[in-house]
Amino acid sequence: MNIAVLVKQVPDTNEIKLDPKTGTLIREGVESIMNPDDRLGLETALMLKDAHGAKVTVISMGPPQAIDVITEAMAMGADGGVLLSDRNFAGADTWATSYTLGKALEKLLAETRLDLVIAGRQAIDGDTAQIGPQVAEHLGWPQVTYVSELKLEDGSLRAWRKLPGGVEEVVCPLPAVVTVLDAPQDPRWAMVDRLLWACGPKSPIRVWDAADIEAPAKSTGLRGSLTQVMQTFSPKSERKTDWIEGTAEEQARHLVNALSQRNLI
Ligand SMILES: Cc1cc2nc3c(=O)[nH]c(=O)nc-3n(C[C@H](O)[C@H](O)[C@H](O)COP(=O)(O)OP(=O)(O)OC[C@H]3O[C@@H](n4cnc5c(N)ncnc54)[C@H](O)[C@@H]3O)c2cc1C
Repeated sequence: MNIAVLVKQVPDTNEIKLDPKTGTLIREGVESIMNPDDRLGLETALMLKDAHGAKVTVISMGPPQAIDVITEAMAMGADGGVLLSDRNFAGADTWATSYTLGKALEKLLAETRLDLVIAGRQAIDGDTAQIGPQVAEHLGWPQVTYVSELKLEDGSLRAWRKLPGGVEEVVCPLPAVVTVLDAPQDPRWAMVDRLLWACGPKSPIRVWDAADIEAPAKSTGLRGSLTQVMQTFSPKSERKTDWIEGTAEEQARHLVNALSQRNLI
């Protein structure tokens, strides 16, 4: 069994701060980490590896320093990694990102059978939750989203989907794409010996550029993006405080009037 896990390097914050002049992300002083949902996706893959002996390959698209999340994933237990890095990939929206990841998965598929692709539900910076489903569309594979637990049985997978109203259990044929938002156990720790192997001369990490995955410049990065960010800004929140005086009864009457005037009750 071969599993690919999509892993994104993100800033260590879910409170993105923007430069008010340029509208770009302020990255100074913000550490980069593995996207939290991807850590859960990796744990899910490693649990399947423990149970079925799968080979786990992590794939990340990003600048050269994104290799850190790949080495970390391999220190946790992944068997190999691919960094997709090329100037042409910069500025990608979700369409161009999923196209690029899809092309890399096609290259992997040409090398070996691939049974399962696991992505996180959502990245904490881009926050769209679109990549997993778009990659599934690119490959033409079925997709199961919002998964909190996954089991394999007779060429298919059984997944438990965490939805607002409860948990849904589904069975899906393989190969498939799954996006996860939880895992049955906390992600495991990285092992020092594995980290040394992942960073060392015998590391099986590969770096692929646009030519390696046969992705034309017009289809990747800013040029391949179907959306354009026109403006980025932090929403201003204005708060007005009304102090209510009087006895408890007067205050309650005043509050009810104020809320009903604003159609809040
Ligand atoms: C300020 C800002 C503005 C943006 N504006 C737009 C916009 O207007 N239109 C638009 O389409 N996008 C926009 N993006 C999204 C940006 O292009 C995304 O970072 C990128 O395309 C991936 O989407 P996402 O982060 O929302 O991923 P999600 O769909 O939330 O991620 C889901 C999962 O997909 C996988 N994944 C995502 N990215 C990667 C990667 N690079 N490598 C490996 N796995 C990955 C991970 O497993 C992740 O958990 C914006 C981002 C920012 C920060």
